[in-house]
Parts: sequence; structure tokens; C-alpha cells
Amino acid sequence: MSQDRVENLAIQKLSDYENKLLNIPGSIQPHGMLIALKEPELKVIKISANTKEYLGIAAKRFLEKPLNQSLKIDRIKAIEDFLPEKIGRIDSFKIEIENSKKQKYFDLIIHKNKTEIILELEPRSSLQETSFSSFHNLVKGTIAQIQKIANLRGFLESIAKEVQKTTGFDRVMIYKFDRSGAGEVVAEAKRSPLQSYLGLHYPATDIPKPARELYKHNSIRFIPNMSAAAVELIPKEDSTTKEPLDLSLSVLRSVDSCCVEYHQNIGAAALLVVPIIKEQKLWGLISAHHQTPKYLPYQIRSAIEFLGKIVSLELVHKQAREELEYVVKLKSVQSEFVKSISIADNFRDALINYPTHLLDLVGAEGVAVCLGDEIHLFGVTPTTEQVNNIIDRADGWIEESIFSTDSLVKFYPEAEAIKDTSSGLLILCLSQIRHYYILWFRPEVIQRVTWAGNPYEGIEGENDNITLSPRKSFEKWLEIVKLTALPWRECELENALNLRNDLVSIVIKKAEELAFLVEELKARNEELDFFAYAASHDLKEPLRGICNYLTFMLEDYGSILDEQGRDRLETSIRLGKRMETLIDTLFNFSRLGKVKLKLELTDFNQLIDRVIELFRASNRGSDFEIRILKPLPTVECDRVLIQEVLTNLVGNAFKYNDKPQKWVEIGYYLEQPQRNVFYVRDNGIGIRDRHSEAIFKLFKRLHPQKKYGGGTGAGLTIAKKIVELHGGKIWVESTYGKGSTFYLTLKSNKF
Ligand code: ADP
Repeated sequence: MSQDRVENLAIQKLSDYENKLLNIPGSIQPHGMLIALKEPELKVIKISANTKEYLGIAAKRFLEKPLNQSLKIDRIKAIEDFLPEKIGRIDSFKIEIENSKKQKYFDLIIHKNKTEIILELEPRSSLQETSFSSFHNLVKGTIAQIQKIANLRGFLESIAKEVQKTTGFDRVMIYKFDRSGAGEVVAEAKRSPLQSYLGLHYPATDIPKPARELYKHNSIRFIPNMSAAAVELIPKEDSTTKEPLDLSLSVLRSVDSCCVEYHQNIGAAALLVVPIIKEQKLWGLISAHHQTPKYLPYQIRSAIEFLGKIVSLELVHKQAREELEYVVKLKSVQSEFVKSISIADNFRDALINYPTHLLDLVGAEGVAVCLGDEIHLFGVTPTTEQVNNIIDRADGWIEESIFSTDSLVKFYPEAEAIKDTSSGLLILCLSQIRHYYILWFRPEVIQRVTWAGNPYEGIEGENDNITLSPRKSFEKWLEIVKLTALPWRECELENALNLRNDLVSIVIKKAEELAFLVEELKARNEELDFFAYAASHDLKEPLRGICNYLTFMLEDYGSILDEQGRDRLETSIRLGKRMETLIDTLFNFSRLGKVKLKLELTDFNQLIDRVIELFRASNRGSDFEIRILKPLPTVECDRVLIQEVLTNLVGNAFKYNDKPQKWVEIGYYLEQPQRNVFYVRDNGIGIRDRHSEAIFKLFKRLHPQKKYGGGTGAGLTIAKKIVELHGGKIWVESTYGKGSTFYLTLKSNKF
């Protein structure tokens, strides 16, 4: 038979099984009797065929007669009192049957369905042994124990232990259902030689939906002997309605063959299951197994049932508390992270310097920080190329800055190849324009699952006679969870969004700080310019006065001074004049701070011609070979100021040259993208590397005044300021002793 056919038949069988559970079986387990009564006279309309065994009276003798005609029950009044009570309510009390030929004492469990009252009787040894205090004793220790434990896992473990202790069963497991109905063993207590099932996942079909529905209404399910033969109810059909008896609330309800087979497969001969209900939903089950048949008195079962109720109640608090603890943990990671990033120098460092925080923030196993072309990977992630491929597709998925899925393959089929890292994906978009994203990854959930058992084991028989063992259902479950990661929790998504907000506010704060600093700097610069302007302006006048008076003194009193006196006066006048030049330079420089550029299209061919012409007029550079590599471009700039720059550079080239064959070359080249770089090159004395920055500082000279024709040391500072006013740059490359090249760019590049 083909694998597909096996699969289809298996699934078909599963749904048959589910239906069978709904079509209530007409039999009970043999450890008790069942009597169905019709109101108002409490006429027996159906009864289990095993009454003779317990009471010594054949079942047929009860039928169609009021119950009290056949049995003398001490609590018949209690049964009558139960009548007006609501449908679905289950009650129990101990009874004594006086005219019973065999068993006298029973636990009577009574409930009412739509049309009948159902009595279920389980034998007990006497009336005395149960009292409230013994029941209380059974549960009080357990309750005290479990209430002490705050964390959910510890709490469930202690429940499992207590249930095992109370029942003496081999193994007690606590299952938790996920959204699909699949279960995981989250706590276990067992006899030590048994293999542990803790952490195993069970497919939803192991406990089919109708069975789960039944658990919502039944607070306990007890099967003391899986292989015990079921006892028929007689008559088989109801004489009036032809409907089988509704046994959905019956404690003795017989066991479905599939359930028997399932438990035999896992070696369980006796079973006790108590549902755990949280907020009206089936949260999980307490499931106790025993390898051999084992009967538990009704009193013990009641205690376990009661425990189930306590667990259901406690669970709400414990889980809320655990959820809260997780949220608190996430929040503290977030605030740590935000603290770290707020002190980081820039956005990039902020994101890539704290990978652990980034992962913990949403409980992911891998994260990719994508800042444009830069991708940084941390933890278990796909490759950079695979991340790039995801990002290329992601814009279509992201809504309001976020996208999350626990099954990426549904959006992106290629993700199957990266299921081990990226079955779950959470994307946070920081800036779509700049391509800034954070991608968090989670692997396929199956990788975490341990599973004992061969999935194909369950298929037996040939063709249509196939029988389904529940183990087959594991495959069905695998299909469901394949290519799926653990789901992203609400609080994790919230944390991711909060991170985005935090980053945005940090960026805004930094930008504000920067804008403030720029303003501050502008103001300080203006103040400084004003100070230099005012100081140089105010100093000029008294200095000129001093120089004039010194000149007058030399003229009027030079004859009466000796040689040394005259020399000193002459030096004072020279120094005064130099100071005047320096102050003039400072004045000119400070004026640049206030200047408004007069931008105009300037033909550099003409500009450089004029510069050379002016030098020729003053007879400078006549011993130079001047190479102008024309044509030079036309550029938008302040013509007067740029002429000043070129004059300074060419002037320096003329000045600082000691070679017999002197030359200077003026040219330009085009730098990408469309940026002119002008240069003035000479074969002069050159500049040592260590001075290449310093020469642009105000009044910085590398030579004594007298050497190379003097100078103030302000020419290059002024040139730099002018170039920067144009948004450009100036720098030098030089070989000491061989020559220098000064380069300059201008931002306004219209030509
Ligand atoms: P100044 O020429 O008035 O001294 P500059 O600011 O123009 O002032 O130049 C600063 C210093 O840089 C000069 O003193 C000189 O030492 C050095 N320098 C400038 N241009 C050249 C050059 N082409 N070759 C070698 N040294 C130079």
C-alpha cells in the first residue's frame, strides 16, 4: 500500500474514532453498576447487566419498575431530593442496600442528563471509613505543599508528585495543550526504573477533540483495568426514543477500543485523568498511569478530583504571575539595553555592541542587525546573503514597522532551506528609506522535541482493514508543527516596538544635542571673529601712534643719540611695523568670519592668468617655468577670494624654492563623483610630513623671518578659511627637499 494511501486511511480512521466518542457507547466498565431512572416515579429504564454480581438480583427484574420496588436503599430520599437539581450536576453519597444478597455498601454517584437520572454504584467495604476529616487529611498536606511554590513548573511538578503519592500509580504526568491541541509533558513523577516522558510532545489527535470536550465537563476519568470486558446496558435501545443512553457524564462509561489500544501501546493498564481548566478552557490534564490494573476507591479519586480543581484555580494566579515575571524580565532587559544604547556614541554601536540584550529582548535564538549594506549577525542565524534575500522581500510584509510569523515558509517558500534557523521571524523596521532593520530568528520547533516511538508503527493490517494505533497521529502532528517555530508572544512583540520607539527618541535626542552644539559653536565662532576684528581694529591706532612717535624721535633726536641708542630705536620701529602687519593680517582674517560669499561662475583659465600677470608686474617668478595645464574648468565661486587663495599658493611656490631649474605647475583633475580637484605643484624645498597640518595654523612659519623672503604665516590659514567657506578642502602632499603639491576642492561645482 502506498504511503499516501496509508496516510489517508489513517486520517479517516482518526475521524471515525472521534465520531465514535460522540456516539455514546452502550456499555460500562465492570467495577460498578449503572441504573438509569425516569422521572417522576424513578422507573428503571436501563440498567447494567452485572447487577446479579453485586446485588444477587438479575438486571431484567429491575426494568420498567420504580427503583424502590426492587431495592431498599437507605438514602432513597436523597435521590428524590436530587431531582429538582440542575441537569449536568454530579453528586455522590454513600448508601446501604438492605435487601442486597451480596454487597451492602456502595458509593452512589448521581447525575441527571436531558432525559434520565443516572445512578452509578461502586462497591465499598463499609459506611464508616470515609468522613470529611479523612478526605481533608488526604488533601490538606498536598495543598499546603503546592501553595508554597511560586513558579509554575515547580508547582506542577509538586502536583505530579502528590498525585503519585496519593494514588500509588507508576507514573503521573501533567500535559499542557498548545493552541492546536497538541500536548507537552510539562511535569512528571514516576517510579525510577520507568523511562521519562518529560518534555515529550503529543499530537492533538492523541487526545481527540471530542475527548477534550468531554474533559471540560467531567472532572475525572477513571479506568482501573483497560482490558476488563465492558458490561452491556439492557435493553440495548430506549423503548420510546430509540436513542442510546447519553453517558457523557458517567464515571463508569466504558472505554473506547482506540483508547485501550493507545494505552496498551504505552504500557498503561490503569488510567486516571483529571482535567485542568483555566478560564473555562481545557489547559491540560493530570494523567496517571499504572502498568497493572489498579482500583482506587471513590474517596481517593474525589481527593484527586478536588486537587484538580485546586490546580485549576491556582493555575490562573501562577500563570499570570509567571507571565508577569517574564514581562518584568523582558522589561528589565529592555531598560538595561536602552541605558546602554543611550550612552553609546552612535546608533550603529548602540545596536551591535549588545547582542545578548538584543536576543533576550524578544527571546530569540538569532538576530541580524541590518544598517544599509552593513549586516551584523549574532546567535543562530541564516547567512548574510540569506538575510539580504529576506530583506528584499520583507517590505511587502511589514505593517506599522513590524512583522512576525512563526512559520516564515507561509510567506516565503524558500525559507524551507533555512528552517533550522529561521522558521520563526520577527522584523522590526527602523528606517525603510535607509534600509535599517532588525531581524530576530527562531528555529523550527521540532528540533527541540524528543519523541520516543516509530511514527509508522501504528499502521496495521492491509488495505481497508487498516487499524489505527494512535502512534500514527504523531505524523499528523509533525505535519502541523513542521516548519513552525515557537510563537512570538504579545509581550515580546511589544518589546520590539518599544525598542524602536526608544531608538527613535534616542536618535532625536542626539540630533537635538547636535543641533544645539552646532548653534553654540556658531555663536562662539561669531564671538571670536568679533573679538579678533575689534581687537585688531582697536590695536592698530595706538600702535601706529607708537611707530610714528618712534620715527619722530629718530628724526629729531637721532643726532644726539649714540650708535647703540639709534640701533635700538630703529629695531623698535621695525618690530612695531611687523606688529602692524600682523595686526592687519589678523584683521583681514577676522573679517573673513563675517564675509558673505559672492558666488559667480568663474573661468579658472582667466583667473590663473590674472594671478600670474600680477606676479609678472611685480617681477616675481620670472626665473620660473610656469606650466598651466589648460583648459581649466569654469566653477561657481567667489572670484576675489579664490584669486587670493591661488595668489597665496603660487606666491609660496615662488617663495619656497631653492632649485636652479624652478618650475610651478597649475592644473586640475576630476574626482568621482564630478568633483574638481585643483592643484599647485612646485619643485621647491618641500615640507616634512609632520608639518603638513601645522602650516595651515595662524602665524605658523617653518623658517626664520629672513630666510625665503619673510611672511606672516597667515597665508595658508586664510586660504583654508576661504576654501572651507566654499564647503571645500585644502591639503598638501610633499616630499621634503623635492617639492610640494597643494590641492583644493570647492563644494559648489557648477561648471
Ligand atoms: P608665509 O608664507 O607667510 O610664511 P603661509 O601660511 O603661506 O605663510 O605658509 C606657512 C608656512 O608653510 C611657510 O612659512 C612655509 O614654511 C611653509 N610653506 C608654504 N608653502 C610652501 C611651499 N610651496 N613649499 C614649502 N614650504 C611651504
